[in-house]
Amino acid sequence: MSKIKVSELFYSIQGEGRYMGVPSIFLRTYGCNFTCQGFGMPRGELSTEAEAVAVNVEKYKNYKDLPLVSTGCDSYASWHPSFKHLSPMLETDSLAQSIVDLLPQKTWKDEHLVITGGEPLLGWQRAYPDLISHPLMRGLKEITFETNGTMRLTKVFKDFLNAWQQPPLGMPKTHEVTFSVSAKLPCSGEPWDDSIKPEVVVDYETVGTVYLKFVIATEQDFADAECAIAAYRKAGFKGHVYLMPVGGVESVYALNNRKVADLAMKNGLRYSDRLQVPLFKNEWGT
Ligand code: SF4
Repeated sequence: MSKIKVSELFYSIQGEGRYMGVPSIFLRTYGCNFTCQGFGMPRGELSTEAEAVAVNVEKYKNYKDLPLVSTGCDSYASWHPSFKHLSPMLETDSLAQSIVDLLPQKTWKDEHLVITGGEPLLGWQRAYPDLISHPLMRGLKEITFETNGTMRLTKVFKDFLNAWQQPPLGMPKTHEVTFSVSAKLPCSGEPWDDSIKPEVVVDYETVGTVYLKFVIATEQDFADAECAIAAYRKAGFKGHVYLMPVGGVESVYALNNRKVADLAMKNGLRYSDRLQVPLFKNEWGT
């Protein structure tokens, strides 16, 4: 049986992208290949908020106790080594049971599963087939991987996901996999060549529906997004593109959301809100 290091498991409403408003189980895996310390900072400067929280790490017994940060990665505890102890390694059997226990009717209705992170397509690709094919997951029909779009899918995992979506002969398709690719622009603090990987994202389109989601605040961020979109299109990317405002806390989100919505309208792109901020104040577990 496989194991996954789980940072958070909760039930909420998807606040972003294609499935905005859909009741969803969120499985947040531990580990990321980035740190995104540039979010919310003046260009070229890096946030130290996660480090400041880590100084008092012994105060925090679980995710609900952790403070929110207004700069850097808002899910810092899902990759920062100081918070590793808050993320248990769970067997897929018990994880499937915990997931079903979170469903309001204890059985799948119209809920979808969001596998997020951290970066969920790191090593855990090898464990997902055990989880997704578990008997308790039989009613699940839609899965989104929220990824930074830099990790290649293994052949084994691609074959599994394609088979999972394949309907019985003569029947309509009922199962769907989506990749919500939040490609990191320079405002994240990550180097372009490490974060913009068009050939990786185009390959996701051989498995499921893929869309790009750029987190932006300024005109400069939008100019960066345009360069990135051109690179993805050149590589053959066919999916939709969303613009989403920077803002893991309400004050920052409120500064950016209208401006980013206007930019999306002006440029014929889709706007993604982050409903978890106005609805739930983006608290851990929402
Ligand atoms: S890729 Fe996502 S989870 Fe990883 S550091 Fe950046 S914002 Fe955080």
